[in-house]
Amino acid sequence: MPKILLAKEGKTFFVKDETKDYHTQFGFVKAKDFKKKDGSKVKTNMDIELTLFTSNFIDDYKRIKRAPQIIPRKDVAAIVAETGVSKKSIIVDAGGGSGALASFLANIAKQVTTYEIREDFYKIIQKNKKFLNLTNLKIKNKNIYQGIEEKNVDLITLDLPSPWNAIKPAEGALKVGGFIVSYSPTIPQVMDFVSMIEKTPNLIHLKTLEIIQREWDVEERKVRPKSQPIGHSGFLTFVRKVS
Ligand code: SAH
Repeated sequence: MPKILLAKEGKTFFVKDETKDYHTQFGFVKAKDFKKKDGSKVKTNMDIELTLFTSNFIDDYKRIKRAPQIIPRKDVAAIVAETGVSKKSIIVDAGGGSGALASFLANIAKQVTTYEIREDFYKIIQKNKKFLNLTNLKIKNKNIYQGIEEKNVDLITLDLPSPWNAIKPAEGALKVGGFIVSYSPTIPQVMDFVSMIEKTPNLIHLKTLEIIQREWDVEERKVRPKSQPIGHSGFLTFVRKVS
């Protein structure tokens, strides 16, 4: 398990290889110190004290390999909150990309299968799966537009250029009451996706959301929104199978 070193002002260092000394801006920590138990204080050669603990899922998740753009966590949170994903859920995801969304969901759900059409990205997802130690994530080097093999699915997440092409396969794979969530950066994609949903009698469009998250500086009496602008990620369209 990777270890984390925490500095006083909140900065964390991720120690991937515990058999080697680790260098930080505060000096280096000796490899033998990584054998100490969680919560131990360790000192660098510059006599600065750091706290040692074992990384958790989110520490590891932040360090996965990224090939295509991954979905931000504010959007993952909305998917989880709106669909009630739980340890009983069966999920299908496409395109896999870097496997970020699929991995996040696999950490919560019973089983996640992700479809990724590109072999190079498929291999990156395999690496990330191993790094995160996920045994319930299945990766298929397949085109989701040509079919979904899973049945009785609770949630299908789509992060694809033409998500409307996945509606027919998704409709067959979903259980009644199951959700589709489509994530698209542009409104023409949302329009084409929703118009196709409206032509499909057993699927209903619940809502389309844009999640805007604003971080604040909190420093004594300097308490105000951070000055950087809010960037755009994508729109989330929620659909439910009703019959
Ligand atoms: N949600 C992912 C990022 C997806 S990027 C993450 O969080 O990591 C979109 C991906 O869809 C790309 O990797 C692309 O290769 C893949 N893709 C495009 N068309 C596809 C298709 N028809 N079937 C499966 N994957 C597809």
